[in-house]
Amino acid sequence: MPPCRNHSSTMKRLSRRSFLAGTAASAAAPTLPLAQTSGDVDVVVVGAGAAGIAAARRLLSAKRRFVVIEAADRIGGRCVTDTKIFGVPFDLGAHWIHIPDANPLARLGAQSGLDIYMAPQGQRLRIGRRNAREGELEDFLATLVRANRAIAEAARGRADMSCAQALPKDFADWRPSVEFVLGPFGCAKDLTEISAMDFARSAERDVDAFCRQGFGTLLAKLGEGLPVRTGTAVTRIDAGSRAGVEVETNRGRFTARQAIVTVSTNALTSGRIRFAPDAPKRQLDAAARLTLGSYDHVAIEFDGNPLGLQSDELVFEKASGNRTAAMLANVSRTSLCLVEVAGSFGKSLSAQGDAAMIAFALEWLSSLYGAEIRRAVKRTHATHWNKEPWTLGAFSAAPPGGQGARRVLMEPVRDKLWFAGEAAHETLWGTVGGAWESGERAADAVLKRLAKSA
Ligand SMILES: Cc1cc2nc3c(=O)[nH]c(=O)nc-3n(C[C@H](O)[C@H](O)[C@H](O)COP(=O)(O)OP(=O)(O)OC[C@H]3O[C@@H](n4cnc5c(N)ncnc54)[C@H](O)[C@@H]3O)c2cc1C
Repeated sequence: MPPCRNHSSTMKRLSRRSFLAGTAASAAAPTLPLAQTSGDVDVVVVGAGAAGIAAARRLLSAKRRFVVIEAADRIGGRCVTDTKIFGVPFDLGAHWIHIPDANPLARLGAQSGLDIYMAPQGQRLRIGRRNAREGELEDFLATLVRANRAIAEAARGRADMSCAQALPKDFADWRPSVEFVLGPFGCAKDLTEISAMDFARSAERDVDAFCRQGFGTLLAKLGEGLPVRTGTAVTRIDAGSRAGVEVETNRGRFTARQAIVTVSTNALTSGRIRFAPDAPKRQLDAAARLTLGSYDHVAIEFDGNPLGLQSDELVFEKASGNRTAAMLANVSRTSLCLVEVAGSFGKSLSAQGDAAMIAFALEWLSSLYGAEIRRAVKRTHATHWNKEPWTLGAFSAAPPGGQGARRVLMEPVRDKLWFAGEAAHETLWGTVGGAWESGERAADAVLKRLAKSA
């Protein structure tokens, strides 16, 4: 049984922005016949992640002929829930439903019969083997407030700079924790690599919800019945054709009047999709600026609750360097704990493989909760998003001077080829909600063009 929660060790939800303050479619789409492998359609959507599914649902509501081409053998993209590894839902990618009041996915998930519940407000900060005292928490929170204010202030200047440059110099021993929470944990990159303007423009994400069945399950449900051709990779897109857009796949060719490409920025710049008659230079350059950071889960299934934490408690530590992590404990009342490794440290750890990631996670947890916890470990699993062939990273964050690239990415090519996805959102970048909105926006633009040319 978990020990009583120590009130003094909890704090308001930590998020990049909370410190600043103060401290359409129906749930299930109708079933359609299997997607065709080639032919003429109004629209081709490339990618069946959040943006692609959102776009497809809009097109379906408008009764357009369209097909979604997905390279992987499943839909959901960076939202995927596994139930085999641990026998309980385990989100390999996105897990937090940010800003549930304004996030259509929270509403659609509930309408689909899934259990959407609010994330707990409290969090813990460990200082070595103990919980932080009230005064220490206050100190940490106050430092985070100052960090956010300094970044917001820097973003108002004429020239952009990195978030790290914007930070005051007197953070003393809180600096590594502040840098981790705002950088790797929040944006998947170190603060040195993140634009102060991009950071400051991002919407507050200080209220969250979870889907007990998994965020991937939610996306899979919302994609049910859509005409998606899985296991089919788009290899070439020709927007120069008079007929519209020619989309070649490894299994056939489509001619569409319009196309929406939702692949990640790293996938877009990997060269796996060739563009004709010429490469859309502005958009590809923008994508090259909006590279994906590194963020992985090291999942540990315990026998019982050796950490003595409540369901979905979030834990940070007072770190002494960048070899640090966060942990989400007892996910949705299971014994599964997710150790989150991210940024440059997470990237190099992930490159070393499973054994190094799991060794770090256990060493980190042992330093906070005692080596005895190792005896309670049942099973482990580490994700490797940088190696996922159709994604090649976690989510985007703009470098100094790069915020404007998001808008450029949204510019249509020849008025018939559109890019969408999380990177193509100015305030909700890096989130599922942002990808969803971006997909809907692209579909709306496409529908307008189709209506005009009808
Ligand atoms: C570990 C991790 C944790 C995260 N945590 C959160 C979180 O808690 N909350 C949150 O809101 N966000 C989180 N995110 C970010 C979120 O998952 C993404 O922002 C969002 O899912 C991106 O959706 P998308 O549609 O833009 O792209 P994707 O989901 O990447 O979809 C693009 C699709 O295109 C397909 N594709 C690629 N190339 C081709 C091709 N040539 N032909 C056909 N198809 C192709 C891919 O297979 C993929 O399915 C997390 C991401 C990761 C990796």
